[in-house]
Amino acid sequence: MIFAELALLPGGWARDVRLTLAGGRLHEVAPGAAPAPGDLRVGALVPAVSNLHSHAFQRAMAGMTGQRAPGRDGFWSWRRLMYRFLDRLGPEEVEAIAAFAYMEMLETGFAAVGEFHYLHHAPGGAAYADPAEMTARIAAAAQATGIGLTHLPVFYAHGGAGGQPLSGGQARFGTDAEGFARLHAAARAALAPLPADTRLGLAPHSLRAVTPASLAAVLELAGDGPVHIHVAEQPREVAEISGWLGARPVEWLLAHAPLGPNWCAIHATHMTPEETAGLAAIGAIAGLCPLTEADLGDGPFDGPRWLAAQGRFGVGSDSNIRVSLSGELAMLEYSQRLRDLARNVMAPEGGRTGAALWCGAADGGARALGRDAGAIEPGRLADLVAIDPRHPALCALAPEQLLDGLVFAAPPDAITDLWSAGRHVVQGGRHVARNAIVATWRRAMRRLADAA
Ligand SMILES: [Zn+2]
Repeated sequence: MIFAELALLPGGWARDVRLTLAGGRLHEVAPGAAPAPGDLRVGALVPAVSNLHSHAFQRAMAGMTGQRAPGRDGFWSWRRLMYRFLDRLGPEEVEAIAAFAYMEMLETGFAAVGEFHYLHHAPGGAAYADPAEMTARIAAAAQATGIGLTHLPVFYAHGGAGGQPLSGGQARFGTDAEGFARLHAAARAALAPLPADTRLGLAPHSLRAVTPASLAAVLELAGDGPVHIHVAEQPREVAEISGWLGARPVEWLLAHAPLGPNWCAIHATHMTPEETAGLAAIGAIAGLCPLTEADLGDGPFDGPRWLAAQGRFGVGSDSNIRVSLSGELAMLEYSQRLRDLARNVMAPEGGRTGAALWCGAADGGARALGRDAGAIEPGRLADLVAIDPRHPALCALAPEQLLDGLVFAAPPDAITDLWSAGRHVVQGGRHVARNAIVATWRRAMRRLADAA
């Protein structure tokens, strides 16, 4: 039983809300209740958010790419550094890094993660004896931290548009469609011991990494599970796909792929107004990664057109350069303000921006991960965040202003507790296994530094 002074329910803020959890789900949600002895008392309860896009291993290279490359630095020079970095990563390092990143995600308000997992093979590209070796490491990190996992094994067959061969660091990602089917089946088996809220989807990496025929082949494995794809992140990618397939990436997907509400378009940055309207109308989720997109110089998402078309969105920490849910949401809004010379762009007229961002991302993120969460109502997974309304950064705010305060103004310690499918893994602002996870991470970082 949880007793919350305030809780953000689908109809708005309510006072004195008593919640009963059963089997990882919300069983009863009773506003205007009296607390009972033994209830866990919290301040303000809001839905936790699903982090819809992560490459966990990249957490360990945060801070290593700040030296300017010759000429114009950008996404493609960053990618060269990332390929070089991952040459040093073995299964043990990946598990330690993922556990650290997932712990940080939970502490910042994410209850679940969509792991866009392409590090399949050993350095150099040799297959591991167990094709699910690396998936098992991600699964172990999810179990150690209690984060909800939607695992998205990545199909990566080609090194660039037009079916180019893989090169260099890409050898660790590569399979053909049959190899991917084996890997996907092995991943399903590796996830079997995880809790019932675990999901398996799949992710064609991008149109750069597949051909139309191989894409169609792997999509047969998807069923109605989540399908994620990187799309239209960089102008050069749009130009290369247009030159090869005769259509821009989103335009091509709209015409040729079986898109639906189970699809998540990661980035979707460089879209025409027609592409924006078309993708939104299908019910696909826009998977926005504002901090990474800013870090890589990708460009701002077209928020006003997407929202006008009733598009759904969620946020992902992607490269994990900084793991911060409020940071992602604030950057999403600020990127719109800087471009449009306007304020409160992601809110409906008269609405509040913090709530529009938080609740939009909670709903869209959960949908993108195939996770029955995103709102505090009976039957849903108990993905919950408690914040302290008496925190110095929040104490002057009315309930309806709390999410504005949390997203734009408060330091991370305003979050006191988090439950992922009922697992109470953040207490007193800290992950319950923080010390052990950090110690393992430090050992892994020392090995990586020695190998450099
Ligand atoms: Zn990504």
